[in-house]
Amino acid sequence: MVKVVAGNWKMHHGPLQTAGFFDRFRPEVEEGSVRIAFFPPDVSLRSSRTCARVQADFGVQNIHWERAGAFTGEISAEMAKEAGASLVLVGHSERRHVFGETDVDVGCKVRAAARAGLVPVVCVGELLEERKAGKLDAVLRRQVAAFAGSLADCRDYMVAYEPVWAIGTGETATPEDASAAHAIVRSALGALGRCPVLYGGSVNPANARALMSAPDVDGVLVGGASLDPEVFARIVEAGGALAGAV
Ligand code: PEP
Repeated sequence: MVKVVAGNWKMHHGPLQTAGFFDRFRPEVEEGSVRIAFFPPDVSLRSSRTCARVQADFGVQNIHWERAGAFTGEISAEMAKEAGASLVLVGHSERRHVFGETDVDVGCKVRAAARAGLVPVVCVGELLEERKAGKLDAVLRRQVAAFAGSLADCRDYMVAYEPVWAIGTGETATPEDASAAHAIVRSALGALGRCPVLYGGSVNPANARALMSAPDVDGVLVGGASLDPEVFARIVEAGGALAGAV
């Protein structure tokens, strides 16, 4: 299966920096053997789509579940679609833990993505104390249960396993840990589990290949290391080297 390599820029790279990013990224990547995706800030979506000139999908980092209304600072799934997004991150750990997004919110957002025809990349993952307390299985199953019903209405979707303790910390799950967590996610999804399941959490060019080679790991969601075009290109290259590998 072709690996997915997705970059979550978080609140980095405005429209001008975005153009500069792609000027340096384009010559570094060989297209075709990896499914590349970018999640720029909303204000850089247009610049990303016009400046990229590489084969990639583009998405937004968050949506509201309503179509429109008095929700200052929010955008709807329909607006994201109209602006050219095909993907949306839902339930990223920073949305859950910095902005207080709940499992119920995540379910509503997946439903909104389905309604608008966006492909949700739904993020799940445990806190360090939950892992240490032996609650990995229960936490992942609870998180998946909150949105699985809405996935059935999506024409396409992905799930990203991102242990909270590994995001932006330099700590990475071992390939074995990632595989084990992905197997739980797939089991919790049941019949809906035949989708790409990505790993995220301090992925870099040195660990990307081993993580993407692990059973059940279909690609990576990359934060910090996606901001530098040459570094991100090396991660794309790692995924490309696995294309066709059994
Ligand atoms: C992320 O933002 O989804 C992420 C995994 O960040 P980082 O790669 O910086 O840990």
